[in-house]
Parts: sequence; structure tokens; C-alpha cells
Amino acid sequence: MKNKLTLILLLIFSISLFGCSSQAAPYSPESFYMGTVINQKVYGKNAKKAGDLVIDRMKEIEASMTINTPGGEINPLNDAAGLNPVPVSPSVMFLLNKSKEYGELSQGAFDVTIGPLVKEWGIFTDNPKIPSSDKINELLKLVDYKTLLIDTMNNTAMLPMKGQIVDLGGIAKGYAGNEAIRIYKENEITSGFINLGGNVVVLGTKPDGALWNIGVQNPRDVNGKIIGKLAVKDTAIVSSGDYERFFEKDGVRYHHILDPKTGSPSKSDLIGVTIVVDSTIVTDSSTDGDALSTSVFVLGLDKGRQLVESLKGVNAVFITEDKKVYVTSGLKDKFTFDDESKVYQYVQ
Ligand code: AMP
Ligand code: MG
Repeated sequence: MKNKLTLILLLIFSISLFGCSSQAAPYSPESFYMGTVINQKVYGKNAKKAGDLVIDRMKEIEASMTINTPGGEINPLNDAAGLNPVPVSPSVMFLLNKSKEYGELSQGAFDVTIGPLVKEWGIFTDNPKIPSSDKINELLKLVDYKTLLIDTMNNTAMLPMKGQIVDLGGIAKGYAGNEAIRIYKENEITSGFINLGGNVVVLGTKPDGALWNIGVQNPRDVNGKIIGKLAVKDTAIVSSGDYERFFEKDGVRYHHILDPKTGSPSKSDLIGVTIVVDSTIVTDSSTDGDALSTSVFVLGLDKGRQLVESLKGVNAVFITEDKKVYVTSGLKDKFTFDDESKVYQYVQ
């Protein structure tokens, strides 16, 4: 009898302990890389180790892929434009190949050689400016992802024309998100969340089995004000919009996503797009989502929707200039329209 009671007590104790550990507060470090605040929520016994390893990896990715500070791998590639091939690491090789793939898939809306124009507009500097149309036309001659030479045998890459510049800004944060998930998994994490300035990737569900709720930013409101929510697990959610980085002159908004056809900030009917990629179907969910968010933003609602619907495991929320919100069919039961500003209309 006494033994039985001890056993029951032990059982209750261990159940509550187990319950406690799975519900325990996450490890939630904040860091700043790739020009953005990075928030993580990592659960489980290796949470601290995994979260810290992720921070180390973010630092490495920034150092290797930046074109805003010296060093790394992309600066030497750009410096050697028109001269010679340069060796690149497997990560950079992967991203250059991916970028060319999305150049094709988006019919040139995504162009990793957009660098000379990004630099000329100076949108990431304290002195942005509107270049003359002559200057834009001159620089447009340097923009063509097809010219980027990738030698997979010798692990080198080369830009054939002097002045060409590779800019991984439209894809690197997505890659960083996938790297975080890889590190979580390697450390036996089954529940984790990372947000790289609006580039969100979730692993599994929350520890209690609930879906993660991810807000979709209202493009015309302060950061954190949403137009709706997505309830997801094992998913990458990547947004692009004209609100992320821009300057205004004479009432016109000049933003950071350029149309490689015009060399100017893209003017489609979209002001924001959120790409939702199922990581159980698409291996490089966040990398692909990032390339797609930039692509679709440039392509606009109709072409963008066609592209998204042609891809398995990929869905999207589109927000148009005329304040309408559209979602692809796969999101009907995952997206909840919740516009606090009461300005947008949900088109179902
Ligand atoms: P995202 O916020 O992912 O849409 O990426 C925007 C960033 O990608 C910009 O800040 C530029 O560095 C770069 N970029 C701008 N226009 C393009 C484009 N058409 N294709 C590829 N990258 C671009
Ligand atoms: Mg992108």
C-alpha cells in the first residue's frame, strides 16, 4: 500500500516536472546583425547553447556577405569584377546559384547584380539621392544576373564587367533564417522561433503543441501594428515592402526594392507581400521565401500570385496600394484578417 502511494506520488511529481520543463520560459536572446534586430525564442534543454551558436552563425554570415563594411567574400568578388574569378565558400556558392535560379523564375524581377543601382540611389546611406536618368541607364547595362559566372568545379565566381556589384540583400537574411533552424535541429531543439527584422522562421509548434501566431505588418502603420495573423508550424514567413527602408522627396516615396527593368524603386500595385513557405515541403524555405518576397514585390499582384501558385508549399499574403488584402488558397484557414486600422479590405 505504502509502495503504491509512493509510486503514485512519484508519478504525479514526474508528470508535473515534465510539464514544467516543456512549458519553461524560452531562451530569448536579442542580437543585431545584417542591419536588423534578431530575436529568438528557443525551448528545450539545449536552448542556450543553440541560441548562442545561432548568434555566432549570424555574425559569420554578416561578415561573409556584407557589402557595407570591408572584408568577407562578396567585396572581393565585386572588386574583381571585369578582372578575375575569386574563390567562394559553399554558403556563398549556394546563394549565388539560388539567386540565379530566382532570376530565371521571376523573369529578371529578382536580380542579384542590382548592386550598382542600389549604391547609386544610396538608400542605405544618410544621403540618399535620385540619380539622373542618364546615370540610371548607364548603370542598368551592368545589371544582369545571367552574366554572373559560377564555376562549381573550382568553387569560384566572377563578374565579367568592371563596375558590376553583387548584392545579396534580397536573400541573405532568408538564408540566415534557415541556418538558425539547421542549428536548432542539430542541437535537438524541437520548438524554436527566430525573427530577423520581419523575416520569421518557426521550428515545430510551441512547446505545448499550439501553433505560432505571426503578425503581418500593416505597411502604413508603425512597426508592430498588423493587418492580420498567421497560425503556423514549421514555416518560414518572409515579408517585403516599400515601408522597410525608404526616403521621401516632394511627397514621393523612394524605397529599397528596385525594378531591374527601370533601375528605380519598383512601382507595382503592391505595398507589401508576405511569403509563407512550408518547411516540411520546401527544404530551403526561408531562403526561397526571401528571394520570392523580393521577386513578387517587383512582379505585382497578378504575376506574383501566378508565380506563388505555381510553387508547391508556397503561399502568400498580398497588400495592394488600394488597401486590399488577398491571400492564396492555401492560407484560407491559416490567415486571420485583423486590421486594427480599419483601412484595409479583405478580398476573399
Ligand atoms: P527584401 O527586403 O528581401 O525585399 O530585399 C531588398 C534588398 O535586396 C534591397 O535592400 C537590396 O539590397 C536588394 N534588392 C533591391 N532590389 C532588388 C531586386 N530587384 N532583386 C534582388 N535584390 C534586390
Ligand atoms: Mg527578399
